[in-house]
Amino acid sequence: MSFSAEAASEVPTLPEVHSGIPKYLFEKATRAKNAVFDGRSKHLKERQRLPVVPLGIEREDFYNALEELKEKLDAEHVEVNDKPLRDGWYMEHPNTHDMMTILDEEEFVASAVVYPSTTEEVQEIVKWANKFLIPIFPISMGRNLGYGGAAPRVRGSVTVDLGKRMNKILNINPEDYTCLVEPGVSFYALYDELEKKGLRDYMWIDTPDLGGGSIIGNTVDRGVGYTPYGDHWACHSGLEVVLPTGEVIRTAMGALPGNNTWQVFPYGFGPYCDGIFSQSNFGIVTKMGMTLMPNPGGYESFMYTFPNEQDLAPLIDIIRPLRIASMLENVAQLRHVTQSLAVSGLPRSKFFSGTGPIPEDIVHAEASKSYVGDHTWAYYGMSYGPAHIRAHKLALIDAEFHKIPGCRKIDPSKLPEDEYFWSRDRIAAGIPDIHELRWVNWAPNGSHIAFSPVSPIRGTDATQLFELGKKIHGKYDIDFFPAFCVGLREMHLIVEIVFDRDDPAEKKRALDCLREMVDEAADKGYGEYRTHLVLMDQVAGTYSWNDGALAKFNERLKDALDPNGILAPGRCGIWGKRYRGFGWEMGREREDGGSEGRGVGPRVE
Ligand code: ADP
Repeated sequence: MSFSAEAASEVPTLPEVHSGIPKYLFEKATRAKNAVFDGRSKHLKERQRLPVVPLGIEREDFYNALEELKEKLDAEHVEVNDKPLRDGWYMEHPNTHDMMTILDEEEFVASAVVYPSTTEEVQEIVKWANKFLIPIFPISMGRNLGYGGAAPRVRGSVTVDLGKRMNKILNINPEDYTCLVEPGVSFYALYDELEKKGLRDYMWIDTPDLGGGSIIGNTVDRGVGYTPYGDHWACHSGLEVVLPTGEVIRTAMGALPGNNTWQVFPYGFGPYCDGIFSQSNFGIVTKMGMTLMPNPGGYESFMYTFPNEQDLAPLIDIIRPLRIASMLENVAQLRHVTQSLAVSGLPRSKFFSGTGPIPEDIVHAEASKSYVGDHTWAYYGMSYGPAHIRAHKLALIDAEFHKIPGCRKIDPSKLPEDEYFWSRDRIAAGIPDIHELRWVNWAPNGSHIAFSPVSPIRGTDATQLFELGKKIHGKYDIDFFPAFCVGLREMHLIVEIVFDRDDPAEKKRALDCLREMVDEAADKGYGEYRTHLVLMDQVAGTYSWNDGALAKFNERLKDALDPNGILAPGRCGIWGKRYRGFGWEMGREREDGGSEGRGVGPRVE
């Protein structure tokens, strides 16, 4: 497909494609797509390093192994990745590489993709990988954008695309408010199904900013959403997991034959092992239970703005007790005005054509022209429940927030339909959206990568992280988009760096900036809650207490569960024995821009 044909094709919809957009977002998605392709100058490049074969296996043996896999799964369900790397866009994303690559695009690429349709087929694939010592990398939807997308960490891994054929909602239980899903069920799809079944008035889902990711993929990577059920990992109950040696287990109550409690009691009996299957490479999740939220009987979004950067510390100190007491009920967002400007969807060049971070006076002048008006910080929250209950909570919040001089409550009735506020309103009510894509258009060929440190909800911590990020962004001439996502007792600072993925110098600056922020934050005691493939070794290295005792423990688990190290090697900085000592790790000291090691060790007997 040519560049223009790709741009002109219709956005795929549910249920035609498991990864499609629900009908209510079709027009919005079409506008989003047009904006993405308007800012696109990167064309398909000829492949440079074909064929892709994982290190440690001869090319011929690799192709013979693929033939054997084709016999097991049918040839049409095994695809070799030898075509140009098409980036697509959010709704038509690739499953072979990171469409927002921060390295050279030939670095984190799959050699082939395989599409299982059952848990048994996943087991077959895992056994096959062990037989031939081929690294495999599971994805559910492959939209983990900002953290590596669909890309495998080890170049030449065979991607196991679970979502394409394993995308059933196996159960929705309106009595218990739970569901059981396969890997290919997106937030869009689950919402759509509740609508179709007439259940949306009774039960809500919790969605991240963009609803195209899968419930399983997002949850195992410990993603968050914005209703009171925002901590997805905390809200799941029960996993079915294929282990790296091919056995299948059900965790918690799922281990009890004939149970009716798998989705209602997450612990079962004995060690609680679910945790080792999140942010790891210890198993492939083929089913997961998730809790759903009862309709709270009413809701109301609110937005406050604050004029100065220095308002951050007192504001965070006001937020903390309100959040811990659940007066502020959802994972709320405190956003900086620069990102609010970017979420207009317009490219930075519309506002500023110079180099270096966009000047603050331009940002404030533009903000003054917006419906929200000039500000530095914008707080988005939601109050739940019937009106009289909301009124009590909202009055309390209002009194507290107004302790900051210059605080303004924004009147939603004055905001146009297309204002970002309404996107936050939908998301906090569990209605998936696609609006959040807009700030990615800030740069041509817009891509993003995140720095996501965790801190307590304290003004001093917020200020420290804000200043650290601002200083280092300034050093690398990068616009700074800080957003604080306030959990129950902690907050994640999410800083998205937007870059042009067709500009090697810009990519290098972004990566250097990230690496410096990760190290400096760690020196001050802050660690990331989640990270991109390219930063995983570095971030894992910052969790180094007691001579790296936790990393050693993870390695012991890895070697016990996956003796040949075939499953997602390197994911979250965990390398199996066959990979250790071969220089696979990526960090600041690595100058070559590559992602591969010098080879791999022999089979572990
Ligand atoms: P999303 O579904 O949100 O698009 P991805 O499929 O991109 O998420 O997966 C996010 C991360 O979680 C990836 O690094 C991937 O390896 C891991 N992951 C996704 N699905 C599974 C799964 N079913 N089992 C184990 N790990 C998974």
